[in-house]
Amino acid sequence: MEKKIPLRMCIVCRNMYGKNLLTRIVKKSDGSVILDLTGKTEGRGAYVCKGNECIAKCRKGKLLNKQLHTDIPQEIYDKLDK
Ligand SMILES: [Zn+2]
Repeated sequence: MEKKIPLRMCIVCRNMYGKNLLTRIVKKSDGSVILDLTGKTEGRGAYVCKGNECIAKCRKGKLLNKQLHTDIPQEIYDKLDK
């Protein structure tokens, strides 16, 4: 049987990927922003794929700030690199 993999869009390159190839960043209801490693945190989420180019572009253009309409701490961008 074929298993359907839910696809999500990278906010940088706008390609669709399975969740294992993406990092999810969530703005929680209290306004704090975290790197969601479980994929289960409630809140407004954005996905960035693990391609080095996308991570660099995301950091340079502060794309997460735009996507989540909030200030993203620098450490979130730093963590994307890992
Ligand atoms: Zn991407």
